[in-house]
Amino acid sequence: MLQFEETGAATGTGTGRQPAMPDGGPSQSPAADELRRVNVADKRIINGRTDVNQLVPFKYKWAWDKYLSACANHWMPQEIQMSRDIELWKNPNGLTEDERRIVKRNLGFFVTADSLAANNIVLGTYRHITAPECRQYLLRQAFEEAIHTHAYQYIVESLGLHEGEIFNAYHEVSSIRDKDEFLIPFIDVLTNPMFKTGTPENDQKLLKSLIVFACLMEGLFFYVGFAQILALGRQNKMTGAAEQYQYILRDESMHCNFGIDLINQIKLENPHLWTAEFREELRELFHKGVALEYKYAEDTMPRGVLGLNAAMFKEYLRFIANRRAQQIGLEVLFEGATNPFPWMAEMIDLKKERNFFETRVIEYQTGGALSWD
Ligand code: FE
Repeated sequence: MLQFEETGAATGTGTGRQPAMPDGGPSQSPAADELRRVNVADKRIINGRTDVNQLVPFKYKWAWDKYLSACANHWMPQEIQMSRDIELWKNPNGLTEDERRIVKRNLGFFVTADSLAANNIVLGTYRHITAPECRQYLLRQAFEEAIHTHAYQYIVESLGLHEGEIFNAYHEVSSIRDKDEFLIPFIDVLTNPMFKTGTPENDQKLLKSLIVFACLMEGLFFYVGFAQILALGRQNKMTGAAEQYQYILRDESMHCNFGIDLINQIKLENPHLWTAEFREELRELFHKGVALEYKYAEDTMPRGVLGLNAAMFKEYLRFIANRRAQQIGLEVLFEGATNPFPWMAEMIDLKKERNFFETRVIEYQTGGALSWD
């Protein structure tokens, strides 16, 4: 017999919440069983008291739809050919020193960043979210973070880079370390086993962490790196790596959009959390995030390279930060910022048949459509 604990997300473990039965098992009374059935109106993103194991009836259909889209976008790193990248990397005249620096700094940041993101979801966010549709998406997102870490590892191994140097960069390279140190307190608060939602103060802490993750980590800290590697790919360099970054960008842009929908739904259900003081705190965090990412841009590009330079990134980061702020209902932070890289939008909107760099059919469809030859 299934045993349900009398502990819901609101009280700590987030494994499920059932009305208490004296013996912990299902009641024989139809009236009591009826009470256990989930009423859609009672579902909540946080502090919900409905059974988290009952996916339907759906209330948050947008989360379920994103889960389905994410599954349709499935990909695996080893499907992408790295032979041209390897040839170029090993050719002493294949890339400039500045281009090599970009590749190594990029991998140095990303190879641990997606691991931090995965830990944040699995050990932190997941247990505080009481809507099963959203948990379903978070499970898919967690697997995608694993695929991304796999992709970076695959590139590092293919190019024969020094593993110790790349995997330790988040300790050894200050522009990377500073970004991670900014993030870690927001992960720690959610992964602390003593942390529980259910008070305005703690609910604000959760909301703040979700905002830092969606809008600043996945929505801002990834974008200098994405633009740089995709710019290499657009010049027909490191196309295997660029192709993988393109899939990662597509996944991450969905993580960011899911996070923003989640944040806005929490705001809708808990308007008392969105105080003037809280918004001011968020604006400061956004400014800090932009400054850290700009410092990273300067470190990865001490000189102009690939038609890019740090000043263009300053504008780009301001443009993205404005967009993220507006998406969660904050005012514009940097008046008049414009997008210097309009081509990045095409990179996110991958078409079904072929991607920009290579020839793989990029839309996985499940079942009979797959062939295993
Ligand atoms: Fe992500």
